[in-house]
Parts: sequence; structure tokens; C-alpha cells
Amino acid sequence: MNSTSAAPGSQASLREMNRLRVLDAVREHGALTQVEIAGVTGLSAATVSNLVKELDVAGAVRLRPSIRNGRRATQVSIASSLGLVAAAVFGDRDIRVAIGASADEVMSQKRMPLPANHAADEGMQRAARLVAELAEQAGHTAGDLRALVVGLPAPIDTVSGEVGSEGIMPGWRGVPVGRAMADSVRVPVRIDNTANLAALGEFKFGALQGVSTGVFLKVSYGVGAGLILGGELFRGSAGTAGEIGHVTIDEHGPVCRCGNRGCLDTYVGAGPVLSALRPSHGALTLRDVISRALDGDHGCRRVLEDAGRHLGIAVAGVVNLLNPEVVALGGQVARTGEIVLGPMRDAIERCAIPSAAATVEVRTGALAPEEADVLGALTLADQVREEADRAALVTG
Ligand SMILES: [Zn+2]
Repeated sequence: MNSTSAAPGSQASLREMNRLRVLDAVREHGALTQVEIAGVTGLSAATVSNLVKELDVAGAVRLRPSIRNGRRATQVSIASSLGLVAAAVFGDRDIRVAIGASADEVMSQKRMPLPANHAADEGMQRAARLVAELAEQAGHTAGDLRALVVGLPAPIDTVSGEVGSEGIMPGWRGVPVGRAMADSVRVPVRIDNTANLAALGEFKFGALQGVSTGVFLKVSYGVGAGLILGGELFRGSAGTAGEIGHVTIDEHGPVCRCGNRGCLDTYVGAGPVLSALRPSHGALTLRDVISRALDGDHGCRRVLEDAGRHLGIAVAGVVNLLNPEVVALGGQVARTGEIVLGPMRDAIERCAIPSAAATVEVRTGALAPEEADVLGALTLADQVREEADRAALVTG
């Protein structure tokens, strides 16, 4: 709810509700005449006429003359929401920015490297500059921007709006990114973690399309999950739902950066994978390990299979709790396909209750890791724009 809404039960709040009823009717049925709106909403013709006048003044609807049943009538439709939505998604070493008319209509995107351990201010300034640049490239200005979603590879506290302490980006800890970015770009800004955004991208465009209960796993340098419950992204009470990387696999295991012992992250993240291979293979990057495993290197395959097994043990708990239709593997490690998926499925079968294990489909995500989170961010930006439009119209 926005702070300027009228008190419940008052004349003004009744009016707001009626405006929404008219807007919802037109949104649902397409263009309607005022008589038809009255029929759909149950409001009187005089009330509809007044509400449509107000909505027209506020720019929410478009009026066009037409003929219905041989009589002249005015057709009411939703004014197409103009302007741009933008996404700025941070990795620990880069930033990817995209703008579009909507998530379905991406106009332009760009990736830029960021220095390791950069300060949050520097990252945010670059993001704002890139958004403005891309808007201009697309023949618009930064003034046409209507909503921005910022993605970070860290837990976001939705209550305080700050970046949580367990992120892989030490320079961002405790920074109120949403407020700072909103001051800079002067449009509504939402922040979310990249696992949630990638889950949303796969839900709108990829492997979780049409799924009511689904789990997206992002496995790259660390492990995160995004949960789709009842056809919507589930964030939990303070925004940190899906932190599967800190599920305990072995309470006597190695100490995790979160302070706990034996978290999934200490078995599956890039750190443990790379250090297991260092004595035999020297210093490799995660990308090297994945490529070599795909080329048949036994050691690289083995550590990734082990990672898949550990993932499966943690996911089995999620499968028992949520009974999902689909578990989709994304992030860099998804490139390994069956090398990780096979042992993961075996572990789920072994550790989850048989009926839940039998019905869950475990597959790779359908989108590339670098597009899933950006498309999810634009999808969320569409929602933010719509909410802002509604809030402005009902109180306008
Ligand atoms: Zn941990």
C-alpha cells in the first residue's frame, strides 16, 4: 500500500476502490463502453461516467468514439504504459544492464567488468550511467525510465533494504542499495538477489514456465535457490528464503564463512571444488573445471559428481518440504548437464520420500545464466512499474 492512500471505509477510499474496479474490468475484458463497464462492475451508469472522466484526466485510460448496437458510444481502454524498465545485475566482477519497453521487449543490453572488491558507490554509479547510456542508444532519455531492478549475488533484507552480511561482495555489506539507487535514478527501485531473479526469469520464459511449485538452483561460485510457490516467487518474511547454500550437510564439517559448520556451500561452491583439484591439477578457475569435465577429465568430473551428490542431499529436504513439480539447475555449473544432474537425482531418490522423489522433474534451466537473472529483473521491473502506476492513479 502506498502512504497517501485514503483511510479504509472513507468516501475517498470507496472512490479509490471503484476506480480500481473500472480499471480491472477494462484490463480483463479489453476495450469496453461505459454501459458495458457498468454491467461488469455493477456500478451505476452515472458513477461509471464520473470515474471514467477522472481516469481519463489522470491518463490511465484512452477514450475512443465507436458504434455499439447502432448507437454512438465511447470505448474505454487502458492507456498503454509508456516508458522504459531497466535491470542492473551485479556479479562479483561485472555488471550487466538491460533496458526495454518490458521484459518481453528488450531494447538494448551491455556488460561491463568491475574491479574485484570495488566499493558499492562505484558499482552503483556505473550502473546508473549505463542505464542512461542504454536509454539514449534506444532513442530515449533517462527521463523515460519508469522502474529499475537491481540484482546482487547476496541475501537482501527486504525489511531494512540492506545487503546481508553473507554476500560474496564485501564492499556492499550493510549498504541500503535500493534507497541510494532511487536517489540517483529518481524512479522506483527494487533490489533482489540474483538467484531469486533467475528463478523469476526461468518462471516467465524458461524451465519453470507454467509451474506452480518449482525450485531454481543457482550454482556458480556459491549456491543459492529461488522458490516459486503457488505460481509466485516466494521471498519469506525478510527476503532470505532460498538460502540453500547454508543448509547443514554435516555438522562436523568444515567451518563456513557464515560461522556454521558443514554448510552445503562448503561442499559445492567454487572454493571446495577448486581446492580439491589443486594438488593434482594446479590452479584452475571454475570455468576450466567445467570445460575439462565436459572433455572427460576424470578428476574434474569426480569433484563435480560429488558436488551433485551433496546438492541432491540438500535438495531432497526441499523436495520433502515443498513437493515441487520441477527442480531446475542454473548458474555456470548447469553447463555440466548430466555430470551433476545424474548424482543429484540419485541422491534425491535416496534421501527424499518416494512419492515426492517420483514426481519431481530435475532438469537444467532453459536460459543462459547471464540472461536468466536479467530477464527476471526486467519481469520484476514490469511489476514495479505497474504497482507505481496503480498507486498514482487511485490517489491521483
Ligand atoms: Zn554457511
